[in-house]
Amino acid sequence: MTARYVELLALMALGTLYGWYAVSLPWVFVGAMCGAVVWLALDNWRFRRILSWLRAEDWANEPQLPHAWGQLIERVRKLQKSLNGKAKDSQARLDEFLAAIQASPNGVLLLDSQLRIEWANETVAEHLGIDPQRDLMQHVTNLIRDPAFSSYLSKAEFDSEVSIPGAQASAKNPVSVAIRVHPYGKKRKLLLSRDVTAKQQAEAMRRDFVANVSHEIRTPLTVLAGFVETMQTLDLEDADRNHYLGLMAQQAERMQSLVSDLLTLSKLEGSPTPNRQGVVLASELIAKCLADAQGLSEVLAGGSHRITSDVPQDAQLAGSLDELSSALGNLLSNAVRYTPAGGAIKAGFDLLPDGGANLWVTDTGPGIAPEHVPRLTERFYRVDRSRSRETGGTGLGLAIVKHVIQRHGGQVSISSELGAGSTFVLHFPADRVRRFSPRPR
Ligand code: ADP
Repeated sequence: MTARYVELLALMALGTLYGWYAVSLPWVFVGAMCGAVVWLALDNWRFRRILSWLRAEDWANEPQLPHAWGQLIERVRKLQKSLNGKAKDSQARLDEFLAAIQASPNGVLLLDSQLRIEWANETVAEHLGIDPQRDLMQHVTNLIRDPAFSSYLSKAEFDSEVSIPGAQASAKNPVSVAIRVHPYGKKRKLLLSRDVTAKQQAEAMRRDFVANVSHEIRTPLTVLAGFVETMQTLDLEDADRNHYLGLMAQQAERMQSLVSDLLTLSKLEGSPTPNRQGVVLASELIAKCLADAQGLSEVLAGGSHRITSDVPQDAQLAGSLDELSSALGNLLSNAVRYTPAGGAIKAGFDLLPDGGANLWVTDTGPGIAPEHVPRLTERFYRVDRSRSRETGGTGLGLAIVKHVIQRHGGQVSISSELGAGSTFVLHFPADRVRRFSPRPR
């Protein structure tokens, strides 16, 4: 600052001297004034240069000016540098924040006070069919035209969510998206979306399952209650009483089988997959299940089925003996129950060239029409409802089989032709199959 005034005084002194020497003593004052005017003009020119530099924001080419103006320029440069650094930091933080929201499995949409789209992540774009670039500043109700969503927005009751069909939804592929709006800031809104298709399907399955179980239990219970009432109200002969008791025992057994299959399913769902340490000898597994099948055939058809097997002696499966017995037992029990008396049933085990193996059961029963085959492993799906019930079926046998084989890393395949019998194959991957090598003597 001092240097600036020294410059002013120097110019005034120069003017004074010039007035004195060049003209005469009275011109001294005029000379000093002229010096001051020159200084003012110079100072104003420096000020204008700084102003135009600030306006142009040309930070790289700052004007080179002396004393106080130079210090001012230096201060502005430092301030600008520090603001620049802060802006860069904020931008980097904002970019990271937006990248995190992009990675979120939930859809995120920011709306301004007029419900126009300010920002959208990829997930919400996919859920609602929005283009995150093209649709910026579009009114959200112009893009999401579902009436349920429009009414949700207009009612502005945002403590609940609304479900609408997703942009990818079609008749074959139902997609359901739940949307919830959270107001924030000055009338702004945060819209969150998530795919609830699987949740809704699971909910529908659960409802169906409970309805099916109730239906399955209600029938035998009604029959049982009817017989109990009959026995309570009527004075029955011994023969009739025994007949009714026999029928009641049948219904109780039916309920027992249902409960037992339900427990098996729930155990399969709730337990960890069988490890590979437990090893089951295929020939023993088949022999044990064939003995049970023979017993069932005695009861249902006087043992008239021809039940045989074809299994290599050295083949082993890595898995759970209980689960594998339950799966094969169900397949063999179905074969016996659905194959008319005198029919043939065979179980076998084939080692495959890729190291895997097939455990199969084939019968000469009535066969299954092709339209039913894909649905047979669904819970409670039955083709022949009355035959299933008459022979003690629960509708859960093949669902258990599918579960067991999936837990062993394999899959079930069914081939059947009406009138020509059926074949059920359980395919095991190579890592579940072993060859038994007897210890050298
Ligand atoms: P269920 O207890 O009724 O036998 P499953 O799940 O074991 O239930 O089988 C589903 C349906 O598949 C059965 O109701 C039956 O209609 C059909 N099915 C299963 N195995 C056979 C078979 N070997 N031959 C003909 N139909 C079969």
